[in-house]
Amino acid sequence: IEEKEELNKLVRSVEDFPEKGVIFRDITTALKDKKGLEIIIKDFTDRYKNKGIDYVVGADARGFIFGAAIAYNIGAGFVPARKPGKLPAEVESVEYSLEYGKNSIEIHKDAFEKNSKILIVDDLLATGGTAEAMVKLVEKLGAKVYELAFMIELVDLKARDLLKGYKVYTQLKY
Ligand code: 5GP
Repeated sequence: IEEKEELNKLVRSVEDFPEKGVIFRDITTALKDKKGLEIIIKDFTDRYKNKGIDYVVGADARGFIFGAAIAYNIGAGFVPARKPGKLPAEVESVEYSLEYGKNSIEIHKDAFEKNSKILIVDDLLATGGTAEAMVKLVEKLGAKVYELAFMIELVDLKARDLLKGYKVYTQLKY
């Protein structure tokens, strides 16, 4: 609890970014702090070690930062879920809606074996649209979602309703 409070203080809130009226939660101020980075990664590592997780899937781009560190610590592999057109081999793709328009994410078709146990990781859970797309993508590839993990959850946006039936873990709630 004390550590979560310490971590909370390291997140910078930036008003009117990327547009007017939005408060952006900036995690770079927590990442650059060595205690901050340690708190984040240790908490995730304690939670997910010895759970038989085969792969950690990180969302482009801030999910890569935590995802690879967690994967290394728990002895799992790391798989990036990328924005379109970045992965060189054959991909599976899922489209999802944004506030304005659409986006999609991709994972290599041969990224995991059938029934692999997957941990999905990103920095922040807002509407849950990105996370839902990640779940669809993992399942399309025949793997199983063990849990979804985020550093920050924007509680008012009710992403947990969208992700009903899946376990969601978040370190800080706003
Ligand atoms: P969602 O799809 O849940 O609406 O949005 C989550 C995605 O948007 C995440 O990939 C996250 O990186 C990004 N995002 C949205 N708002 C913020 C924010 O305030 N801070 C940070 N760091 N990322 C955000």
